[in-house]
Amino acid sequence: MNIKNEILRLKREKDVCIIAHSYQTGDILEIADFTGDSYALSVKAAQTKSKTILMCGVRFMAETAKILSPDKRVIIANADAGCPMAEQLTKEDVETLKAKYPGYAVACYINTSASLKTVCDICVTSSSAVKILGNYENDNIIFIPDRNLGSYIKEKLPDKNIILVNGCCPVHAAVTEDEAVAAKKAYPGCPLLVHPECVPDVLRHADFIGSTSEIMNYAVNSDSDAFIIGTELAISQHLQKALPEKKFYMLSERLVCPDMKLTALKNVYDALDGGGLEIVLDAETITKAAKCINEMIRLG
Ligand code: SF4
Repeated sequence: MNIKNEILRLKREKDVCIIAHSYQTGDILEIADFTGDSYALSVKAAQTKSKTILMCGVRFMAETAKILSPDKRVIIANADAGCPMAEQLTKEDVETLKAKYPGYAVACYINTSASLKTVCDICVTSSSAVKILGNYENDNIIFIPDRNLGSYIKEKLPDKNIILVNGCCPVHAAVTEDEAVAAKKAYPGCPLLVHPECVPDVLRHADFIGSTSEIMNYAVNSDSDAFIIGTELAISQHLQKALPEKKFYMLSERLVCPDMKLTALKNVYDALDGGGLEIVLDAETITKAAKCINEMIRLG
């Protein structure tokens, strides 16, 4: 059996829209209808006529797709694929923060569970965060859960009072300043492109800081012919394939997200064949989480 052909056949027959985050491997991207950052994927899937969405990514991404397409069936290809950062805080933690800082709005990164979004006021993506929170009427903000993205936003918006918590992406936060210095020394003249989930000591060595899509666009449009990639390994691999005339070096070999590597073609086939895990959210969760996301849309 040629598994790719079988996936494409089942996808067509069952009219399923497959979305794949850019951190997925190349073989998964090849069978997807849309690839890219998590929020953009959910928006594109919502705009299709397909009644079923199959997410190749991690659970919070599938939940976002469900929030944006409540009338569609949303399935995650591998039920075990989670994001440690999305689960780092509980609703009770957020309520405690609200009680401690009355009058502060709670802004959450899109990398949070649907449940957590229900107790937050506004949501941001890594590419929209500075603009959205810059436009936000409330200057007093608790930003959850990513301390590193939060500190990047705080630096860009000095007029806002931003309280940070101790969450992080364990993959990006593991990169050290020593690695940034060593990479720049090893590849002199190559721009260092870094995701804002990295620690501030790494960000200060970056030539460009941006979301996954922004990093990819930068590499495509730049005159440079070699780059150091400071985000998940798959981005370097996809760029190398798309731009063979350019060279892509990894900032750290440890920039590999184990959860993003849990989805294989077999999982996609099984999910199309009746497996996978359907994302079920109750109406109240969808309504409240959508309100949090709609605030981002209003200000974006
Ligand atoms: S790379 Fe980090 S933020 Fe993204 S899914 Fe993996 S653990 Fe979560």
